[in-house]
Amino acid sequence: MEAVSVKSRIVCNIDFEKDGRQAGYARAPLSRNNSGWGTVEIPIIVVKNGNGPTVLLTGGVHGNEYEGPIAISRLAQSLDPGAVNGRVIMMPAVNIPAVLADTRLTPVDNWDINRCFPGNPKGTFSQMLAHFLDSVILPMADISVDMHTAGTSFDSALSTNMHYLPDATMREKTMAAAAAFGAPYNVVFGGVDESSTFTSCVERRGIISLGTELGGWGRVNIEGVRIGRRGVDNILKHMGVIGGAPETEQKDGATRTRHMMVRDPASYTFAPRGGLFEPTHYVGEEVQAGEVAGWVHFIEDVDTAPIELRYAKDGVIWFGAGPGRVARGDAVAIVMEDYDDRWPS
Ligand SMILES: [Zn+2]
Repeated sequence: MEAVSVKSRIVCNIDFEKDGRQAGYARAPLSRNNSGWGTVEIPIIVVKNGNGPTVLLTGGVHGNEYEGPIAISRLAQSLDPGAVNGRVIMMPAVNIPAVLADTRLTPVDNWDINRCFPGNPKGTFSQMLAHFLDSVILPMADISVDMHTAGTSFDSALSTNMHYLPDATMREKTMAAAAAFGAPYNVVFGGVDESSTFTSCVERRGIISLGTELGGWGRVNIEGVRIGRRGVDNILKHMGVIGGAPETEQKDGATRTRHMMVRDPASYTFAPRGGLFEPTHYVGEEVQAGEVAGWVHFIEDVDTAPIELRYAKDGVIWFGAGPGRVARGDAVAIVMEDYDDRWPS
């Protein structure tokens, strides 16, 4: 085994094998200037009854993404242990220092937790927390739903997402779970430098892994909360942890999730220079290759024409930059296409 098998320094007062509802904290040591033996308390709620499967729900891995934490908190406060066959582990605010500071990165070490898996129990706070999730929490799970949004710089079409898994059985199982979650879209994508993400850790352990993108632009997306709250219930139904069939009707009248993919570098539109970006489409809108994606303005220079950007693919906008300043090399739009199972190797 690699070094990551070393014991976690995070202490959790929950008995994960006990039936009933437990709400408590995982306590991570954090020595500070004014508290040498200080801890950070990470909320965990576990509801268990019987021997059914274990569903892991995580939110707040990035602290400025709100819909997942709200949806998981709502479930955690209402889930009746008597209605459960299995175990539901709910962590609505995984990266609690970032959640309380309203930031993507962990303020105590400036790391992105979702870029430091499988972590290190002797590392920084983020590395220690990543290691705890991978080595203590994940081995209990049959499915993981890690709820994100596009943060502040992007908005996202309301969607689940997953890697294109080479194993056809796991791919089908994951797509079935995504269809049950019931977001308007499910996006299958090829990972780019993904080995350090939570999703990759979940997959390495042979566990079904779903992500979500339920809004962005730094605000609470009302429909994103509704889809997220319904989605976590739907996953519990899909796994047989609670009774009933998933509800997948969409606001626009569609009856189910539309499976999409992003596998082509041409799906991304980048800003060639820094400036003030004016987009032309909202997320979820259909666009065509060659259509104007927006303009980069140079407000500080008088009489300087904006640069016009165009999409390179037909499809639907998955991620769209907000009207605001972009840096040279930033993606300003990501276009998704309808899913095709014949994936190039
Ligand atoms: Zn995120």
